[in-house]
Amino acid sequence: MKKLTKEEFDQRVEAIARARKIFIPHLTKNITTAFDIYRELLAEQDYKAKLTKERANGYNVLSDKQRPVCPDCNRELAFRIICTPKGPQNINGYQTYWTCEDDDCCYEEFSKNPLDYWVNTLPIKE
Ligand SMILES: [Zn+2]
Repeated sequence: MKKLTKEEFDQRVEAIARARKIFIPHLTKNITTAFDIYRELLAEQDYKAKLTKERANGYNVLSDKQRPVCPDCNRELAFRIICTPKGPQNINGYQTYWTCEDDDCCYEEFSKNPLDYWVNTLPIKE
């Protein structure tokens, strides 16, 4: 079985609480059954949509990581995932990029490394 991060665990606990509220005691008194029904109906879809959104901006997955700083202004860089697959609009096959959020600094750094690479290589924030 896949190990859950604390965040994923919290999301599932929340989902169980919601399932309990919706289905007990109306349909079933058994929380396992209630949760199964709930998960099939709603949760998995919600969960996937949420995860995709979070992965899209990289905010939650990298929130505990030490992000690189801008070489021009020393500000912590923002992370983005590039959704365009390798092709005419993404000749180099870039998968992610770092960008400076300072309005006066336009530093950008494109990377062929996927999100998972950054998740596994960036040090934990102190
Ligand atoms: Zn900068």
